[in-house]
Amino acid sequence: MRRSRKVKILATLGPASSEKATIRSLYEAGADIFRINMSHTDHPKLRAMVATIREVEGDVGRPIGILADLQGPKLRIGAFAEGEIEISPGDVFVLDSKPTPGTRKRVHLPHPEILAALEPGHRLLLDDGKVQLRVTEATRTRATVTVEAGVRLSDRKGVSVPDSTIDFGALTEKDRSDLEAALNAGVDWVALSFVQRPEDLAEVKKIARGRAAVMAKIEKPQAVERLDSIIDFADALMVARGDLGVELPLERVPGIQKRITRAARRAGKPVVVATQMLESMIHAPVPTRAEVSDVATAVFEGADAVMLSAESASGDFPVESVATMDRIATEVERDPNYRNIMHAQRTEPEATGADAISAAARQIAETLNLAVICCYTSSGSTAMRAARERPQTPIIALSPVLGTARRLSLVWGLHCVAGPEPDTLEDMIHNACRIALREGFAKPDQRLIVTAGVPLGQTGVTNMLRVAFVEGER
Ligand code: PEP
Repeated sequence: MRRSRKVKILATLGPASSEKATIRSLYEAGADIFRINMSHTDHPKLRAMVATIREVEGDVGRPIGILADLQGPKLRIGAFAEGEIEISPGDVFVLDSKPTPGTRKRVHLPHPEILAALEPGHRLLLDDGKVQLRVTEATRTRATVTVEAGVRLSDRKGVSVPDSTIDFGALTEKDRSDLEAALNAGVDWVALSFVQRPEDLAEVKKIARGRAAVMAKIEKPQAVERLDSIIDFADALMVARGDLGVELPLERVPGIQKRITRAARRAGKPVVVATQMLESMIHAPVPTRAEVSDVATAVFEGADAVMLSAESASGDFPVESVATMDRIATEVERDPNYRNIMHAQRTEPEATGADAISAAARQIAETLNLAVICCYTSSGSTAMRAARERPQTPIIALSPVLGTARRLSLVWGLHCVAGPEPDTLEDMIHNACRIALREGFAKPDQRLIVTAGVPLGQTGVTNMLRVAFVEGER
């Protein structure tokens, strides 16, 4: 099946979409890659979901990517003797290390690493930001705070600390065990939540050992501040607007989204825009005008993928949500402004063979109006450089490694095909022509362009570019 858009759709699976028939319908409606949220998925369910996606993949005959999204540290206050308390701005309150039920004056904060990081002036945001506290005094066992906003606080509400760098490792115990289970199940991507520093990614990569690529979820101000070094370490980024909008003022999120998208595009790393994109479709068959505009903005920015969360995981209209996203993206990509924006935001190739060949391939393909760019890629990196060019011409990424084809299903504009590596250069050209024809990208006698590394079978040596007729050389 050939998609008629370049941007990819990442759909989260959940109770509304665990059945094989629904997953297939989501794929047919436009989902290119599926997300499994480890906050709500145990290991047997994870394995069952991966197996079902692989069955759908076999049935539709196209590689489908799977992303396991690790929960990360969920920070929460303890419980209250009465279940909840009333508060008002100006009240003085205490968070401490005593594991006893909370009162109107204090509550347990069962995270010594937060107490250790708090300093006077730091904010604590509870219950998705509905309660805002500011620290006036802090010791390693107790923080005195003033209530700045909020009317109620109840048992085990979530806490975020946007001003403090917390001294915990990249992975909680749950994350470690979920990561191992996800790698064993054979997922293609893992997403790390609440990344604070590049070292967090290094730890995950060390465990993954190439078995899955690693996506950094940008949802903390500390990550925004270190964006460039995080991009260097990450294989992809997610603009996780849910938590980003708790940790930072909501009105800063659109600017940060643009900054992250542009920085990732410059670096040639895939970037996903996530959260509340079609939120109202959790319960309604049509989105709001503002949501349509939000999806369109991400597509106009050249994001690699747009994501659905509860809309596809637990909403009443999972398939309609994907179909709606597909229609919005397709229409945006037809808009003449889209082309102009892609062109204006293109960045110079770096001084590498892969970039020089990718830039030349785009230019030749556009100048000669060629049918498709066929890009042989083993690790996937050459195909990502081809996508970084954001060419008007479609790209087929051909890989002998099925895992590479699955991973690349996240990347802008790549139609991924896995298959055995041809033995000779001539076979390579014929194979590319045959696949372009079969997959509906070229007609007989049209021309296409092939890029590859010669000699064959080596990675990182893209050095060849050839224009060919689909029915063989003339
Ligand atoms: C987010 O915070 O926007 C996000 C995608 O993460 P999660 O769904 O895990 O909260």
